Amino acid sequence: MPLLRDVFIALSENDALNDASKKVGLKFGANKVVGGITVEETIERIKDINAQGMSVSFDNLGEFITERSDALEEKKLILEMIQAIGDNDVDASASIKLTQIGLHIDYDFCLENVREIVQAAKAQGMFVNIDMENQDSYDDTIRIVDTLIEEFDNVGTVLQSYLFTAKDDVYKYKDNRIRFVKGAYKESPQVALQEKPDIDKALELLIRLHLTNGSGFTSIATHDHNIIEKIIEFIKENDIPNDQFEFQMLFGFRKELQKELVERGYNVCVYIPFGSDWYAYFMRRLAERPQNINLVIKSITKS
Ligand code: FAD
Repeated sequence: MPLLRDVFIALSENDALNDASKKVGLKFGANKVVGGITVEETIERIKDINAQGMSVSFDNLGEFITERSDALEEKKLILEMIQAIGDNDVDASASIKLTQIGLHIDYDFCLENVREIVQAAKAQGMFVNIDMENQDSYDDTIRIVDTLIEEFDNVGTVLQSYLFTAKDDVYKYKDNRIRFVKGAYKESPQVALQEKPDIDKALELLIRLHLTNGSGFTSIATHDHNIIEKIIEFIKENDIPNDQFEFQMLFGFRKELQKELVERGYNVCVYIPFGSDWYAYFMRRLAERPQNINLVIKSITKS
């Protein structure tokens, strides 16, 4: 459904709708894929997910921020969430997008912000994942990740299988906790694979390499059941213990598959986005899988 995908992408980029959505609560079924607007609401969702035998990684929605004051507000909210996770004793880690806390404003400003976050998380015994964004942010993100890895033991990052650099990075980060994904951004053929079968094959290869090289924990972040089953076969063949890896999926997606993996004894972590900047995220999820339009239809027909 390429046409529908383009419509949702255009809607996700509409400034007026993005601004308007911040003034209202979660609408159109967005509550099925977004944990909440506030820290308190999201903590309740995290408790529900923990009760189903899964851990959580939270993501404060919003990226590509250009004002220092906005970046500081976002950092404050992340610190509040880390504190609330500690206070409520729930099982959750943090996922951080560096462009939300200043990467496109000033490198050192961003580094100071993320340092404070990693330090606060460490005090709660919490892991912090530095999400990987678009290619323009890649070099600075890697520089910051490398600095943080030198200073802290509770930080890791993401490798995107579509990037040509991913194979070198998997060796570089063999002893670090890494999330593996296909990659969510539109990148040029100069830097990234373009065909889905190639990206899928690369994802499988990277995960196998990380599982069998070094001591780093492997987070397998995909909703693709074919890849998940192939990796499970590989894990069994190579006697890889269950505490060396986890499966990660987005909140509200493939809930049956999440449940099934828990029942089969595997660790599952749910990535839960929260915050007032829910609209663009929701539209991008609809663009990725237009079948999710059912969420919107159900929510409208119910009200
Ligand atoms: P797809 O290629 O979307 O789907 C493969 C197949 O799986 C489909 O053909 C279908 O058969 C099945 N399928 C998928 N979804 C569903 C569904 N909802 N219901 C039924 N069947 C389904 N990207 C980044 O660039 N940087 C990041 O830091 C990052 N972090 C992420 C964290 C998590 C936890 C996850 C899950 C994804 C993250 N991503 C990130 C996004 C990722 O790069 C992909 O864009 C996204 O996950 C879609 O690819 P996929 O592997 O899930 O499978």
